[in-house]
Parts: sequence; C-alpha cells; structure tokens
Amino acid sequence: MGVPQLKLDPALLDSALLDRLACPACFGGLRAGDAHLVCMSCGRAYPIVDGIPVLIAERAEIRKS
Ligand SMILES: [Zn+2]
Repeated sequence: MGVPQLKLDPALLDSALLDRLACPACFGGLRAGDAHLVCMSCGRAYPIVDGIPVLIAERAEIRKS
C-alpha cells in the first residue's frame, strides 16, 4: 500500500498540456507522437523520458515529413 504512482502516458499528453507547451526552438505548437512531442512548425521531435517531455532544442531530433 503506497501512494499511487503518477504515470503519464504519451497519449494523455495532448489537449490540456500540449496547449501550454511550445517548441523552445521556434515556439511552434507541439503534437504528441510516438514517445516524442513533435513540433508542427520546424519538425523537431522532443523525447518523452519517464513521462516527462524533454523540451531542450539540443536534444531534439529533426524530423522532416
Ligand atoms: Zn519548432
């Protein structure tokens, strides 16, 4: 018996939280991808580590689609 662990599923990151987050490189909007948050403006993909989005431009992968 303990405190329930808060686990963030990437699928739960959208809507409310994503509205508050912006790409640190270009301040574009983010959308939830597979274990990443992907910037809709510049295509950077930020990893989600242990349920926490790592919004550091240097850690992002550039994804062009
Ligand atoms: Zn961006």
